[in-house]
Amino acid sequence: MTEVKEVDIVICGAGLVGLALGAALTQSDLHVLILDAQSQPQTPADTRVVRQDFDLVSGFAPRVSALNKSSIAFLKRIGVWGSVSRSSAFVAMSVKDAVGTGAIEFDADFIGASELGHIVENRRVIDALLLQLADADQTEVVWDSKLDDMQALESGYELTLDDGGQISCALVIGADGGHSKIRELANLKTVAWSYHQQGVVCNIETQHGHGQVARQWFTERGPLAFLPLEPTNLCSIVWSVENPEDLMAMSAEEFCRELASASEQELGGILGVDKRFTFPLNQQHSLRYIKPHLALIGDAAHTIHPLAGQGANLGFADAEALASELLQYRFSERGIGDFEALRRYEKSRQPSNLLMTTAMEAFKRLYSTTNPGINWLRNTGMKLTNDNTYLKTLIARLASGGG
Ligand SMILES: Cc1cc2nc3c(=O)[nH]c(=O)nc-3n(C[C@H](O)[C@H](O)[C@H](O)COP(=O)(O)OP(=O)(O)OC[C@H]3O[C@@H](n4cnc5c(N)ncnc54)[C@H](O)[C@@H]3O)c2cc1C
Repeated sequence: MTEVKEVDIVICGAGLVGLALGAALTQSDLHVLILDAQSQPQTPADTRVVRQDFDLVSGFAPRVSALNKSSIAFLKRIGVWGSVSRSSAFVAMSVKDAVGTGAIEFDADFIGASELGHIVENRRVIDALLLQLADADQTEVVWDSKLDDMQALESGYELTLDDGGQISCALVIGADGGHSKIRELANLKTVAWSYHQQGVVCNIETQHGHGQVARQWFTERGPLAFLPLEPTNLCSIVWSVENPEDLMAMSAEEFCRELASASEQELGGILGVDKRFTFPLNQQHSLRYIKPHLALIGDAAHTIHPLAGQGANLGFADAEALASELLQYRFSERGIGDFEALRRYEKSRQPSNLLMTTAMEAFKRLYSTTNPGINWLRNTGMKLTNDNTYLKTLIARLASGGG
């Protein structure tokens, strides 16, 4: 008979959010096991920027996130930010309607800050989180370990892994991304919006420096974001489009030309492009994040369109809120997995996650129409917002993770 391993908490999913929760819980004496179906990611090597004709080797990983000031403050509090081996600060944002003249622009000064956030490669943040967890006696990270099934017990869960291994715990956390197995097995229902869109993601070199400005254009194909990387002529781009096939089939030179035109040559010509990737985009929200002895965090609870660059930021906020509840309640008589603590977590996070999801849905609809009346309204709305100090401050605060 297989021996059942016993721990206090299992976090299923060692992505950005699951690892961040694990790192936040190292301040407790709880025995935490983090498991992930994938193999341990390789530590990234630093490489030089090399370009031949239009083919670029940027040395940056394709998946990056724009982390706001709240996420960075959280990573500092749990002792991780100092180990993120490189990041690029951005100090201003510019959002433009390429079908018209509407624009919203603001910089960090506008809200009395020195920067709005940092662009980081996801894998470097994961590396820093793992470094922090390596020193924690009570926390284990197990790779190549896929959750297959789980059974509710009176005071927790028993989990079954794909290699037949079994683990029992008082609390199971689903940090297993948009296709969460935990959510499915717990029968937690979601509302989902399929966009039939994919994100074309790659790194590029531009003719002019980006000036640490994060830019977004609402183009006819879909939203196009340029996130500034260091050195000053590199950007990571996400272009959300319905049919990525032609963009993916273009030669590097053709793609650079297409991009220069879609970005209105704001950074001059596009000199080179790194390998291109596509990611499916959708939006979904779990109606409940919790059940007795179970909670969802990050993309498992809510997947959001990358338009606003908020998915990881919302996930880190979930991890911090749940860790705070668990740390407070660990000494209570009802113990770990206490439903009251989980309810407080859900109550503190669901309204703001839902608000962001709904706002992204409204944006998506507003910008995917060719109706001239709506186009006019959109452009006028953007201009009015840009001229309204109160509204602009509100947007700048939200973008930087403030209230
Ligand atoms: C193109 C694009 C651009 C983005 N840009 C930004 C941005 O600028 N800013 C921002 O804040 N967010 C951004 N996001 C969103 C952000 O990347 C995600 O919200 C974030 O990475 C989610 O992290 P997570 O840990 O919740 O989930 P994931 O990163 O999906 O991690 C889930 C983990 O669970 C594991 N897992 C799954 N199933 C099982 C199982 N059965 N057993 C064991 N393990 C399992 C997986 O292997 C994986 O490692 C972007 C997203 C996309 C697609």
